[in-house]
Amino acid sequence: MNKNIKFIFDHSLLNYRFNDEHPFNQKRVILTKELLKESGQLTEDQIIPPRVASDDEIALIHDLAYIRAVKSANRMAQEDLIKFGIGTEDTPVFSNMHEAAAQIVGATLSAVEAVMIDGAQGAVNFAGGLHHGFKQKASGFCIYNDAAIAIKYIRKKFDLKVLYVDTDAHHGDGVQWAFYDDPKVCTFSIHETGRYLFPGTGNVNERGIKEGHGFSFNLPIDAFTQDESYISIYENALREIADFFQPDVIITQNGADSHFYDPLTHLSGSMAIYEKIPEVALEISKLYCDGKWIALGGGGYDIWRVVPRAWAQVWNVMKDEHPLHGDLPATWTLKWQKEAPVTLPLTWHDPVEEIPVIPRKIEIEEKNNGTLMNLLKYTNKKSGSTRIGM
Ligand SMILES: [Zn+2]
Repeated sequence: MNKNIKFIFDHSLLNYRFNDEHPFNQKRVILTKELLKESGQLTEDQIIPPRVASDDEIALIHDLAYIRAVKSANRMAQEDLIKFGIGTEDTPVFSNMHEAAAQIVGATLSAVEAVMIDGAQGAVNFAGGLHHGFKQKASGFCIYNDAAIAIKYIRKKFDLKVLYVDTDAHHGDGVQWAFYDDPKVCTFSIHETGRYLFPGTGNVNERGIKEGHGFSFNLPIDAFTQDESYISIYENALREIADFFQPDVIITQNGADSHFYDPLTHLSGSMAIYEKIPEVALEISKLYCDGKWIALGGGGYDIWRVVPRAWAQVWNVMKDEHPLHGDLPATWTLKWQKEAPVTLPLTWHDPVEEIPVIPRKIEIEEKNNGTLMNLLKYTNKKSGSTRIGM
């Protein structure tokens, strides 16, 4: 299959790095790219460098006072920065913070332009997906919200209806609030319930306001949710939402932190969910959007064992091919094992014996099904018409 899709990458995207101890580490983008190359899935001509985002583009979402604070963060007093969410433990100051964050926005806009202007059928920016960035402040490792800026850019320049699908384990709050009153942008976030996890929002009853009421969807799932339940409710919800909204273009935020190895969350997915997530996105993009699909990265804190495999499968599926199975290329494992502090996986799937046994499995599934039913009420579908597989 020779599908025209683009992988946005440049080493400048790795400059977004808070400090050596910080869990957010863009090395995962290199690991993903290398894994794809070693697998024969990514060629040089598919890689395009990002452009830089202008201040006006960043201001599509963010306040000028906030942009100014990011630019001068190195010179500002801690007490002045805190109100912008900068200088916290989560989002500490680093040098050239504005340039690094703006480069990520530029990369996401490059992905948008590859699809909307240059005729690519899909594009990825795995360095992007910084979904917690707010209009006036940084939050949860995110400075500029590239996903929200890209959506606003598409709205302004092309006047198309955008479906934003966020499968990060954390609620996609920044994007949701940015379009909470906009009926032309539909946001769907599936995430671990905010009861014990940052940012605490993303309840099923967050539905939007004013004209945007009814275009915000949330599926908060229980801690320790495993593959079968995750896949079943994700597929059901996304198909119904897409049918309800009829999008022109789909943007996915592919945070890879719902895996049982992830150190920051409590979900218990395996690699199986990272095959299904892009498969349904591809299906929706073909059914409603003439193939137009932009995929971003997001969270993902097991950068060695989880993120490269998860994101590589997004690319593999975007090519309109099946997710890869079997062994990982030995060249990749051998090369990176020297540097990795953990034993690298040898296969695309997780070995069955590694998958944890969750005693509350049935209870969790029932609870998630109940949440799905609550959500489906809002898609104007009779809940009885939807089959809930286990
Ligand atoms: Zn996350």
